[in-house]
This record gives sequence, C-alpha cells and structure tokens, in this order.
Amino acid sequence: MILTIVKYGHPVLRQKGARVEAITPEVDALIADMLETMYEASGVGLAAQQVGRALQVTVIDVRPVKDRPSRLEMNGQEQDPATLMPLVLINPKITPLGEPAKGPEGCLSFPEVYADITRPESVEVEALDRQGKRLHFKAGGLLSRAIQHEVDHLNGILFIDRMSAEEKANVRDEIDALQADTKAALKIR
Ligand code: ZN
Repeated sequence: MILTIVKYGHPVLRQKGARVEAITPEVDALIADMLETMYEASGVGLAAQQVGRALQVTVIDVRPVKDRPSRLEMNGQEQDPATLMPLVLINPKITPLGEPAKGPEGCLSFPEVYADITRPESVEVEALDRQGKRLHFKAGGLLSRAIQHEVDHLNGILFIDRMSAEEKANVRDEIDALQADTKAALKIR
C-alpha cells in the first residue's frame, strides 16, 4: 500500500522514533508499505516519521542512482552495495568515519528543495534487519550519505538543520512556504 508522505511542517518529523522491541506482523507490513512508497516516489530512502510513524525504522535503496557511487564493507571485505539492497534498518546506531564531504541532498518531505550538505564521508552501522538479524557494516559514498540522512529523521533531525547558513538562506522562502502550507492543511499554527 502506498502511504502518504508527510511534508515539512508536520510535527511528527520532529519526533524521535521509539525503539522497535519486536518485529511484529504490523512492523513488517509497515516496512513493505514504506518500500513501496519510496519506490513510487523515486526516493533512495524513507524514514518511518515520513509516513507519520515515530519509530526507529528506515528503508534505503541506492541502486537506482547510477552516477554517484556507494561503498560497502562487511566482515572486513569490500562488497557490492547492491547485495544489501533494499536495506532495512531497525534501531540503527551509526558511528561517523572519515573526513567531512559535501554532496547534494533532497528529501521526500521537502519537494523541490535541494542543497549541498556536509557529512562524514563514511559511517559504521549497527542495526537489525527486517528479519531481526543483527547487521554490522561500513558504508561510504552515497550509501553513507543516505544512511546518515535517514538516521537523522529517526531522531527528529532534518537536512535543513545540517545546511550552512548560506545554503539555508537560498532555500528559506521555499521551506517557509512549505511549512505554512502543511500547517494550514493540518489546521495548526
Ligand atoms: Zn529526508
């Protein structure tokens, strides 16, 4: 089922996700719906908050992006990132590695807003997968960026919070208008 993607201005985007204590049939169905919704929206990642659920669950698939490379290291060996896709992360913990790198980002909760964001180039990830199995790997490039963006969502952090003052000034009018539209639709002030 395709879910409605929540836009900036909705308070759920600022909520920290609750830990998932058990992968119930409801959680599994949510994951299936999140994957379907992400593909339909042509996104590379989607967090539970973006479909209105404050939970530590995110889905990622970097395979459609051909011009920005990803790296994956598992069990001390370089692997094809495609082997891990689609990637489902439950209760993820990330540790930044490497130097800060700047790269373009968008967000399905901010249609038409794009900016360069600086984040560590790579990251170490510990999480549970869809089956509840422990995942432990290192990611680089686009995969690292996508994971950091989505894990931020799970903590109520948005990419506008990571923009430089200059980048934020460039998109200020768009994000203010988006926030006002969302709040008007929700009838909140
Ligand atoms: Zn996002």
